[in-house]
Amino acid sequence: MKYAVCVLLAAALLLPGCGRHTASAAGKSIVVLGIDGMDPNFLERHWDALPNLDRLRKEGEFKRLETTMPPQSPVAWATFITGRDPGGHGLFDFVHRDPQTMMPISAMSLTSQGSRTLSLGSYELPLTSGKVVSFRKGKPFWQILSEHHIPTEIVRMPTDFPPVHCDDGFSVAGMGAPDLRGTYGTFSYFTDDAAQKTRSVSGGQIVHVELKNNSAALRIQGPDNSLRKDKAPTYVEVTVHVDPQQPAARFDLGDTQVLLKEGEWSGWMQAEFPLIPGLKSAAGMFRLYAKKLHPHLEVYVSPVNIDPSDPELPITSPESYSKQLTKSVGLFYTQGMAQDTKAYSAGVFDRADYIAQSRLVSLDHLKLLRYSLDHFHGGFLFFHFFGVDQDSHMLWGKYDDDLLNTYRMVDQTIGWVRQKIGDATLIVMSDHGFSTFNRAVNLNTWLMKEGFLVLDDPKNTSDEEVFPHVDWSRTQAYSVGLNGLYLNLQGREREGIVEPGNQADALLKKISERLLAARDPEGGKPMIGGVTLTHTEFHGDMLDRGPDMIVGYMPGYRSSWQTVLGAVPTALVEDNTDAWRADHCIDARFVPGVLISNRRSRAPDPHLYDLTVSLLDQFGLGPGTGMIGHSIY
Ligand SMILES: [Zn+2]
Repeated sequence: MKYAVCVLLAAALLLPGCGRHTASAAGKSIVVLGIDGMDPNFLERHWDALPNLDRLRKEGEFKRLETTMPPQSPVAWATFITGRDPGGHGLFDFVHRDPQTMMPISAMSLTSQGSRTLSLGSYELPLTSGKVVSFRKGKPFWQILSEHHIPTEIVRMPTDFPPVHCDDGFSVAGMGAPDLRGTYGTFSYFTDDAAQKTRSVSGGQIVHVELKNNSAALRIQGPDNSLRKDKAPTYVEVTVHVDPQQPAARFDLGDTQVLLKEGEWSGWMQAEFPLIPGLKSAAGMFRLYAKKLHPHLEVYVSPVNIDPSDPELPITSPESYSKQLTKSVGLFYTQGMAQDTKAYSAGVFDRADYIAQSRLVSLDHLKLLRYSLDHFHGGFLFFHFFGVDQDSHMLWGKYDDDLLNTYRMVDQTIGWVRQKIGDATLIVMSDHGFSTFNRAVNLNTWLMKEGFLVLDDPKNTSDEEVFPHVDWSRTQAYSVGLNGLYLNLQGREREGIVEPGNQADALLKKISERLLAARDPEGGKPMIGGVTLTHTEFHGDMLDRGPDMIVGYMPGYRSSWQTVLGAVPTALVEDNTDAWRADHCIDARFVPGVLISNRRSRAPDPHLYDLTVSLLDQFGLGPGTGMIGHSIY
C-alpha cells in the first residue's frame, strides 16, 4: 500500500515511450565514470598501486579538469549536467537561504505535500498531488541525446532527483535523493549503556533502551504520517534477543528473523510503516549492525531507505525501472548520500565501522553499474561513484592506506569496465579534488568584526543558528552555506538596507579587498585565496537566486559548520576537531578534478562545462541552450 500522494505523483511522472534501443543514432559508445572527489595529486602519488588507471592514462591522457566556484559536488555536477555555470543552472551551494526568513534551505530539491486536504477523524487525506521539485535549471545533456534517439543510461547522477524523464533512457537518482523520512539520512543507534541518554545528534538519533530478560524492543522511526493531522511519526519495532553467553543475537521484525554475531551486518530488512492501520503503509528498508552485544548492547540501524521494489518516491526513470533493477540485482542503497559519515562524526562508528559501511554502499552501487553494462549496446552510459569523496572527507591526510583501498576499488572497476566495453570511449572524471580542513572560519563573526554585520548586543555571539541576534537594520552582509556571502539588499532581503547598484558594487569591492587581506589570528596565514562576484563572473538568468559573492578559502581553511546555518560564534577561527577531516569547498584553483581517458583531447585546460559540450559533439550534436563550454576534441 502506498501514500495517495505518491500514486498521484507517479501518475503525473509516468510518461509513455521508454524503450531500450540496441543501436545509437551515431553508432557511438561512450562510458563516463564520474568518481566524485578523485584528486589528481593523490593519483600522482599512487600510480603504482592503480594499474588500470595508470594504463588508461598512458594509452590516452590524464589532465586536470577545472571545476566550478564553489567546488561543491551539487554545483559542479549541475554544471556537468547542463554545461552552464551556477548563474545558468541555479545551484550555488548545498545550502541556499530564503531572503524573507533567512532560513537555510536545501539548494537541490523540495518535497511538498498536496495543498488541499480532506479531514477524516485524526487523518488528513490529500486531495491534490504533493510534488518533488528539482531546483536545477537547464536541460541535461543526456536529454538532448535522447531526443536524438541515442540510448542513455544515467546511474546515480548527483542533483538528478527526481530523475528527468527520457524516452530513450533509464536513470537512477543519486545525491539529492532522500531517505524515507525525507532527510538526507537519519541513522538510529540503540544502546543500554547508562552513559548514553536518548538524544538527537547531527544526522541521527541515539536511543537508550533497557534490556529485560536479555531482550529489548528497538523502535525504528519511519516517515511522519502525512495522512494524520498531527503528522505523528510512524514506527516499526524490531525485537532483539541477546544470547546471554555468546556474542550473538536474534532480531525479529514481523515474521523475519535475523541472527547476527557481534560485528556483523544484516542484509536489507524490508518493513511497512503503518499510515492507516491495516489499510495504508509506506515501504522502507534498513540494515542492522550488531556493533556490540556484551557487556552493553550497541546496535546501529541505517537510515530507512526508500525500497526500490516498492518506491514511495520516484527514484528511477521510468519509475518501474527500480523494480526491474531490484529483481535483477537485489535491494540496494537508494539514499543519495549513503556513506554514513555522520555516524562516524557522532562517535557511533569508529574508523573500521565507517570503512565497512562505506564499502557496503559501494558494492551495492557497483551492482547497478554491472547491470547497466550488461545491458549496454551503444549510446551513452554514466555512473557516479561516491566512495572516494566520502572516504576522503574522513581519511584524507592521515589514513592514506585506507583511502588508497577505496581508490583501488575504482581501479579494479575500471579494469572490468574496459574488458566489457572494448574500444568504446571511456572517460574517468571527477567534479573536484581534495584538500585538508584544519581550521574552520566563522565567516559571520569575521563580518561582524569588520563592521558589516551587527548584533543587537555584541555579547550575543553564539552557535545559535539562523541569526537570532542580528540587527538587520544595521547589517550590510551575511553568510549562509559553505561559500555564500550575501548583501542585505533592499527589495530582496526582508529588512534589506543596501541599495542595489553602485552602493552594492562598492560594498562588494570593499568586502573582497578585506577578505583577501584576512589573516588567521593564529599564525598569520592568509585564509582566503580568491572571491567570485557572481553577478559579473557568471552567465545566465538564475543569478538572483545565488549569493552575491562566493568565498574561496585557502587550502587548510573552510567555512565552519555554524556559518553554514547562519550562526555568529565568538571565535573568529577554530580548529577542526571533527572526524570530517578534509574538504574541497575552497578556492576552485586548489582542488581541480581529473580527466582520464583512452581518447586524447586538444584542450590544455579543459573545464567541466567543456566536457558537456564535448560529449554532445561526439554524438554529432551542437551545444544546448545556455551551454558555455567548447569541445575539447
Ligand atoms: Zn565532498
